Amino acid sequence: MCIFCKIISGEIPSEKVHEDNLCVAFKDIHPKAPLHLLVVPKEHIPKVSDLREGEHDHLIGHMVNIANKLATDMEGYRLQFNVGEKGGQEVFHVHMHVMGW
Ligand code: 5GP
Ligand code: ZN
Repeated sequence: MCIFCKIISGEIPSEKVHEDNLCVAFKDIHPKAPLHLLVVPKEHIPKVSDLREGEHDHLIGHMVNIANKLATDMEGYRLQFNVGEKGGQEVFHVHMHVMGW
């Protein structure tokens, strides 16, 4: 099981701030902004480029809706997907960074 699947199952502890049937959101262990959350689908999908048109459109929209709610008190924020090693991806389970100031 990958590290984020272990966080989703509770095998590895995390500071969860949201959970529903599709996604969890938890605090990044090495925050790069005053608010730094990761929104993670429960389904193990390695990269955002593996998402399928038609199949995952609802999931990705749902992740943005969650991010907007979690960052609602911030003055500004950034939503970021790193894709592939060259794109800075270290954990190969889709996650959206929510970095807020
Ligand atoms: P990536 O570089 O793959 O886009 O981002 C992976 C993120 O996951 C990094 O910002 C890193 O700090 C975070 N991370 C890695 N391992 C853990 C962990 O065990 N717990 C939490 N909460 N975050 C983690
Ligand atoms: Zn996984």
